[in-house]
Amino acid sequence: MTAADRLARIADAHVRAILEGGLFDDFCMECQLPWPCPTYVWATTERNVCATWNPLDDEDGEDG
Ligand SMILES: [Zn+2]
Repeated sequence: MTAADRLARIADAHVRAILEGGLFDDFCMECQLPWPCPTYVWATTERNVCATWNPLDDEDGEDG
């Protein structure tokens, strides 16, 4: 499974809740956060996956 496939599965799990009546704000079915939830946004954002997942980037910070 590629990284893109995993992101697609995450995005597929986090779906917008559709409620009748309009009494509630839209939220995520998976994590109950206001829609669009941070996880969905993260999973659907175009990015360079290799660069994002390199932990050395954080450890080699500008602060020294
Ligand atoms: Zn969610």
